[in-house]
Amino acid sequence: MQRRMMFRNFFNWYHRKCDLSGKQIVSMYDVDAPFPVYEMREWWSDKWDGKKYGRDVDFSRPVFEQLKDLSFSVPRMSISNINCENTDYCNMSWESRNCYLVFGNVGNEDCYYGHVVWQSKNCYDCLYVYASQFCYQCVDCVNCHGLAFCLGCDNCSDSGFSVNCMGCRECFGCVGLKNKTNYIFNRHYPKEEYKRMIKEFNRGNINHIAMAQKKVDELVGKEIVKYYHGFNCENVTGDYLYNCKNIFNSYDLKNCENCSYSATLDRFSNCQDCNFSSPPNEWSYNSLTTTGHHLLMCHTVNGSDAIYCDNCFGCKDCFGCVGLKNQQYCVLNKQYSKDEYKKLTARIIEYMKKTKEWGEFFSPDMSPFAYNETIAQEYYPFTKDEVEKRGLRWKDKDENKNYKGPKYHIPDDIKDVTDDICKQILTCEKTGKPYKIIPQELKFYRQQNLPVPRLCPEQRLKERMAMRNPRKLWGRSCMNCGTAISTTYSPDRPEKVYCEKCYLETIY
Ligand SMILES: [Zn+2]
Repeated sequence: MQRRMMFRNFFNWYHRKCDLSGKQIVSMYDVDAPFPVYEMREWWSDKWDGKKYGRDVDFSRPVFEQLKDLSFSVPRMSISNINCENTDYCNMSWESRNCYLVFGNVGNEDCYYGHVVWQSKNCYDCLYVYASQFCYQCVDCVNCHGLAFCLGCDNCSDSGFSVNCMGCRECFGCVGLKNKTNYIFNRHYPKEEYKRMIKEFNRGNINHIAMAQKKVDELVGKEIVKYYHGFNCENVTGDYLYNCKNIFNSYDLKNCENCSYSATLDRFSNCQDCNFSSPPNEWSYNSLTTTGHHLLMCHTVNGSDAIYCDNCFGCKDCFGCVGLKNQQYCVLNKQYSKDEYKKLTARIIEYMKKTKEWGEFFSPDMSPFAYNETIAQEYYPFTKDEVEKRGLRWKDKDENKNYKGPKYHIPDDIKDVTDDICKQILTCEKTGKPYKIIPQELKFYRQQNLPVPRLCPEQRLKERMAMRNPRKLWGRSCMNCGTAISTTYSPDRPEKVYCEKCYLETIY
């Protein structure tokens, strides 16, 4: 998983020129990328043809070496958004509209500042949020509506500061509740009293928010939790699994069946070692961002029966191809007949078995990114030293902390914020990095009565990532019945971790 993730840069963007039009663009590839980078629309145009880069297979050299040569010569799209509208500042987007700085943006509308937000509308500052609307600053929330500052909730609505709640409505600061209404800090109030108390809380003011958060933090850890986050699963190990069946050691799967060692997938079946993919997919292996079926060792591919392909779309029966659109029977971007293709690919596979390359994902030196530009650094952080010791690349980032202008003071309460804030350069309270807010964002904060964030988007994301359980399983026993469970709750955590049966019998 770590190796595959070394090929995914969601957030680190650069100013550079489009190598086709010469236009100034933003791109996930820095100016020193080894291949030409085309602005996304130019890349999708007919102005160039990937087959011009076609070449013969050389059976005297390792195949990965040849794949690297090809992949470092074919043009790549500056950012990767497919079937999207007005999402020019998003990356890895699919069928989304009117989104801004959402990375891993699938089927969304009007979402801002998110990572892995899928099938959602009007969600801001969310991480791993699925099929939800009007959520703000939520992590691991599924099928939710109108939540703010919530963590690990599903099927909840009109609530704030909830942790690990299910099926709750109009709750505030509650932890580990199921099917409850009008609870505040895990205590029930009659509806009218609940309304009166909630009215006293001004969520548009940072001081009120800090107070609420402090009180919730006192409750967290005392609750009974199920050994995994999610619902409606059968025979699963891993965490954050929803509507899944027969899953082994996998994370963040929705509607998947018979998958193992995989993460961040929706509607995959019979797949192993796959990551970050929108649906559907079946019978795929060791791949990153693939849609279709029978995709082996592929990266950003939609199609079928492709092997070792990279950035190919609408392709079928292709081997070792890069940057092709709607092609069939190609090897290293060169066209063959059906018969030739079958014979040649069989020979390559035999050869790759001998060179011990067959089945391995692309080698790390083929990644166009330095380790710390990629998502691998978020999930498997290394120091510069550790990266270099492994022979991987590290990139010293220009953190752009050089803003020396006047420090803008953000009012504590959203009602005191004027339109002028959108013209100001704000300074992150934690990292000192400059950041901006945009008019659409300000409108949302006003509508939802939320304060303007004090932290830059990167720091906000980093803190949300830290709220999640790690992708690591510990062998433990249910703290009620003693049944063996494997769970992402480490043994030193305070929560009472129960097996599913005990959890369902206790929490209802
Ligand atoms: Zn139990």
